[in-house]
Formats: sequence, structure tokens, C-alpha cells
Amino acid sequence: MGTSKDSSQELYDGLVAHKLIIPVGVQGAFGRGAVFEDVLARFDALVSRVIAPDGAERMLFPPILDRQVFEKSGFLDSFPQLAGSVFSFEGDERAHAQLRSRIREGQRWDDLQKMTKVVLSPAACYPVYPSFAGDVLPKEGRLVEMFNWVFRHEPSPDPTRMQAFRVHEVVRVGTPETVIGWRDMWLQRGVEMLRSLGLPARPEVASDPFFGRGGRMLADNQRAQELKFEVVIPVVSEEKPTAVCSFNYHQDHFGESFGIHTSEGNVAHSACLGFGMERVVMALFKTHGFEPEKWPQETRRRLWP
Ligand code: ZN
Repeated sequence: MGTSKDSSQELYDGLVAHKLIIPVGVQGAFGRGAVFEDVLARFDALVSRVIAPDGAERMLFPPILDRQVFEKSGFLDSFPQLAGSVFSFEGDERAHAQLRSRIREGQRWDDLQKMTKVVLSPAACYPVYPSFAGDVLPKEGRLVEMFNWVFRHEPSPDPTRMQAFRVHEVVRVGTPETVIGWRDMWLQRGVEMLRSLGLPARPEVASDPFFGRGGRMLADNQRAQELKFEVVIPVVSEEKPTAVCSFNYHQDHFGESFGIHTSEGNVAHSACLGFGMERVVMALFKTHGFEPEKWPQETRRRLWP
């Protein structure tokens, strides 16, 4: 759509002109300036303050994931187009000479690297489930909070569509009732939190970009069962608002894959919610302007308490 393309370019140019983001040549990989990072850290702190009374366990993982966990997660069944695997050089000196000469001559060198035991994390919560492998959960289930970098191979000129971004995520594991009740509570809480910053946020039923011919059916099924919700805000387009927070109910997928059981002995269910940190920050700049010192009093009071 012409309008949304132009307004995504306009947002990109505005963010660059105000030194909020720093172009690096590759789409979706720009740097972040000091003011951008300050706003991001302040929103992150707000999320932590809202979560604090729930008493979540805090975990931090690197932006890489055990390849075996990744294979087990089923990500490649659904989204092969978004994944990024880490390859590295394991050759001898002869192979190294070949590598150097190929690069000097501008030739391909991908066959001179080998797949390693890690991939780039495609979702912030994936390392959590194997850490519960074989566990019987306490009666009230588990609640984990984390802040991780995520990779998605979808280069785009739209600044809200990044190849690498940060997610403040919360995972709930337990019985279906526990997990669904938690998800519904948070859906309301998440919308209220974003609206308290003066953002025109609203929840909607959503689906994932499943790959291939079968993907359409999977997406329809996901919508019909209301397994995915998003909180959206118009950032680059009114007709196609940007998802800034997503809620996924996995049913027993991870419980089954990693052998996690409830105290009653049933396979555990899980759900997660994640705030797309850069997207929330861009929604703030889009809604209130590029200079935070001119933002509305109420928004500033929430972020600069
Ligand atoms: Zn997740």
C-alpha cells in the first residue's frame, strides 16, 4: 500500500534525523541512539514495576539457543523463512587460504563454514521450557520473566520490522485454567499500561505468519481457537496497526516436547506474553513526537517517575 510505505519511510527518516536510530547499511539492523535507549530502559522499568507484585523468577539468556532445543521447538515446521542458524569456520590452513582468496575475489564462501551447535534465538521464551524438562511443577505452576534479544530473518525498510530486537517477556506454565486466567488478566493489564502512556492501544485476535500452503489453515485454526492475541497501535499505518505486545497460548506443545508435568500429573500447558521493546519506543515517538521533553505530562510522569 502506497500510504503505509511512505509513512514507514517518513518514520525511518524522522528517527534517523533525530539520531534515535543509526543506519548500518543492512535493513532491519540499525543502531540505537542514547535517547532511544533511555526511553527503552524506562519502558522496561515500567514493565518490571507492573510485574513485581506477581513474584516472577527472573532469567537472562544470551541471544543464541541450543540447536537441539530449536529443532525440538517445531519452529522450522512453521517458520523456516524467519530462522537464522550460526555457522562457523572449522577448516585447516589450506581451507583458510581458500576462504581469504574467495573473499578478496568477491566469490561465495558459504560452503567453507559449518553449522554449529547454536542458532540465533527466534523467540525470547524458548530457552525457558527445556530448563523445566522432566519437572513436576509446584501446585501454583511457574512464572518467569526475561529480557532477551530475538532474531527474525525479515529484512524490511519499515523500521518497525527488525531482524534483531529486544523482548521483555513473561512465561506462565501450569494447568490450562491457571495459564488461560493469567493470559486474560494480562491482556487487560497490557492494554491499560500502554494506554496510560497516551498510546492508542487495542487488543485483537491474531495469527502467526505460518509458511507455505498449509500455513493458511494453521493461521485460521489459531484464530478460531483464539491462541494468539496482539495489542496493536497505529505506528506506520492506520489500516495495518503494529503489534507491540503479543500473547501466545501454546496449549501442551512445550509441556509435551520437554516433558513438563503439573502437580496432578498432567502435561503442563504454557503461555507467554512479550513486549516488543523497540516497537513500543517507536510508537511513543510516532504518537508524541521525536522529542521526549515535549511529551505529555502524564506520559512523562509514568516513564520518569
Ligand atoms: Zn514466547
